[in-house]
Amino acid sequence: VYSRTTFTLCYTAAMLNVVAVDLGGTNLRAAYFPDDDPRPHSQTKTPTKAYEGPEAVVARIVRSIEELAPADRRELRIGVGVPGPLDPVAGVVFETPNLPGWLNVPLKQLLQDHCQAAVVIGNDANVAALGEWRHGAARGANDVLYLTISTGIGGGVITGGRLLLGVKGLAGELGHMLVDPDGAVCGCGQRGHLEAEAAGPAIARKFRERLAAGESSELTNRLNASAEISAADVGRAAEAGDPLARSVIEDAAQIIGRQLASLVHAFNPQVIVVGGGVSTLGPLLFEPMERALRNGIMHPAYLTDLKIVPAALGDDAGLIGAMVLAREI
Ligand SMILES: [Zn+2]
Repeated sequence: VYSRTTFTLCYTAAMLNVVAVDLGGTNLRAAYFPDDDPRPHSQTKTPTKAYEGPEAVVARIVRSIEELAPADRRELRIGVGVPGPLDPVAGVVFETPNLPGWLNVPLKQLLQDHCQAAVVIGNDANVAALGEWRHGAARGANDVLYLTISTGIGGGVITGGRLLLGVKGLAGELGHMLVDPDGAVCGCGQRGHLEAEAAGPAIARKFRERLAAGESSELTNRLNASAEISAADVGRAAEAGDPLARSVIEDAAQIIGRQLASLVHAFNPQVIVVGGGVSTLGPLLFEPMERALRNGIMHPAYLTDLKIVPAALGDDAGLIGAMVLAREI
């Protein structure tokens, strides 16, 4: 169980069956991991309809658990990754920006009332960090920074072999650190956060701004036809060699790299894992990002044993992380 003062992860002696739940803005995925197996034996996936409130989502989760897990609940634990700030100790979700109607929802209690099993909830990026740490790109390391870059930027910090939670479980929001006081408004309402300057929507926005300012790209015709240009479009153009697309992505990568240098000073990690849709750009993102990190470091000793690696679990990081959350915490 969570405790406010200690958060040591330890393997329990008894075999544990887990239903892991990844509550995303688009899909609700659940998977059954029996007998300490790190691989799921069965899975369900249902769309998370935007209009559904917490009651409907809880009912969906309960249905998934009933489909996946055996009737005997004695050895069963439920781990849930939730997209939004939450208190993992109280089990209360403060809000979820992509799921309307979620405000101070006692998710842990609601689920425990319905499924007679112990429930652990965690912030989705923290949960993905646990997955990459135990079963993915950061296996074996004790000090890990995890960054996921997609529509937003989420993070997780493993320090000294423990997930950093903070007093209310709100630590590790690596996307909401200031990079430009005069920057764009962030999804959280503040201005100039990393997420607002370097996540997918920022890449698309900056690309459109530079086109509007007169620069040219192979995507110019699409903009003239008033089609929306997404970060994925910019990524594909960059992969095809479009100079403007490459420049916009390099700028975002540098912003992230400079911020990573600050994080390296704060946490002195052994591994930095970068995941999320934008990370699939590979070297187009990683090379300028790593260069900016190295250029911004205060002493080369930070870099001696530092590895910067792409996430290994892909879309399964949330599910596998929720399994780790349920089993080890
Ligand atoms: Zn923010």
